[in-house]
Amino acid sequence: MGNENSEIIVAKFGGSSMANLEAMTRSAQISATKNANMVIVSAVYGVTNLLVEISKQAPLGEGEKVEALVEEIADKHNQILIDMNATEELKEDVSELLSEVNMIANGMLLLRECSDRAYDSLVSLGERMSSLIFSQVLAGIHQKKNVELFDIRQVLKTDDQFTKASPDLVATKEKAQQHLVNAKYGDVVYVSQGFMGSTSEGLTTTLGRGGSDYSAALVAEAMGADTLQIWTDVAGIATTDPRIVKEAKLLNEITFSEAAELATFGAKILHPTTLTPALRAGIKVFVGSSYEPDAPGTWIVDKTDSAPLIRAMALRREQSLVTLSTPKMLHAHGFLFEIFKIFNDFKVSIDSITTSEISVALTLDDSALLNKKIISRLSELCSVKVETDLTLVSLIGNEINHTPDIAKRIFNSVEGINVRMICLGASKHNFCFLVDKNQADSAIQKLHQEFIQ
Ligand code: ASP
Ligand code: MG
Repeated sequence: MGNENSEIIVAKFGGSSMANLEAMTRSAQISATKNANMVIVSAVYGVTNLLVEISKQAPLGEGEKVEALVEEIADKHNQILIDMNATEELKEDVSELLSEVNMIANGMLLLRECSDRAYDSLVSLGERMSSLIFSQVLAGIHQKKNVELFDIRQVLKTDDQFTKASPDLVATKEKAQQHLVNAKYGDVVYVSQGFMGSTSEGLTTTLGRGGSDYSAALVAEAMGADTLQIWTDVAGIATTDPRIVKEAKLLNEITFSEAAELATFGAKILHPTTLTPALRAGIKVFVGSSYEPDAPGTWIVDKTDSAPLIRAMALRREQSLVTLSTPKMLHAHGFLFEIFKIFNDFKVSIDSITTSEISVALTLDDSALLNKKIISRLSELCSVKVETDLTLVSLIGNEINHTPDIAKRIFNSVEGINVRMICLGASKHNFCFLVDKNQADSAIQKLHQEFIQ
């Protein structure tokens, strides 16, 4: 994977690659063989969920449940420490972080409250613990470099939107240049935390669930890295979910635009925001499995050798179709503006949209409608119809909006399936349509057969 000294490599390992000592050792071996300069890790598998559960139970005053959760978190880490025959010093350091979990949990219990700020301090402890342990595992096997545990809060600077902070790119770049220069010129490999960052005042923030991929991409950008490796538990990006279509094949390469569509439209493999920094900074992204490090994996690059009409397909489940109509829209202006303003006020993201003269139909995640106020605000403006239990089927590829007869091929192959809405034209990389959730799997099976198999 390139020349040792000139290439900067950031490697990210997810929770399943940190699940236990065996997984950590395998991940450490990969970090060493691939000669990574910076290794970003997620929390030990399942730990973030447990921490989030504490943040829910503590404000309810559920002391016993909280205690059991804290214990479960302690057990997971202590088991790894036992298995690796950890030094007293490491055991003490981990135990200090575990007491921090306990203290924050007790504070929340006492106050019967969990502020966003407290939540971030609590959930970031998962990554703080895993990175601490992993740095020792890596130090134990790395032959060539010194391993240094690095607190990412010194570099990854964010705003103060706790629980879903946005990065300050300028400050992050500046801090990376200040603190991480040895990654390039020295013989150091840093081990650091995904998911978390800090405000300009040094308060701990997080980037939102699943944010470690995004962290790694941001750090790679700030370090001027050449390659970002995302190590997960599947051996790359597939043409579609192999649990639905057994003939699904792994892709050797995919473009940024296609991968971004795929991530947004349902493929679970990458967090959709991951690719933005990589694309901006021209960093090649590799996705592979830490369980099969020698498998080819998938490269996400600017330009691929081939540009097939349909490269991959995905389902985005739990979709609602919201149809908004009003006769007032006839020859009027401003209606779409009013509607989008409401969605914006509620911070709800619209995935696809079609309009006619007097109505607009748009798709949202079902969860976006849990807040009933959004419906009542929209109802003040127009009539609102909501259909749930739908799934968005999307095909991802190239020149989709310029290929004659593609719609015919698509709909011939899914004949008999009731299509509720179609989106074509906005992107040359995507064609999507909405179907009843019970017909989605069969639609993908037929389409895969038509276009890929
Ligand atoms: N540990 C965090 C989560 O589970 C971040 C991540 O793993 O990406 O959401
Ligand atoms: Mg993850």
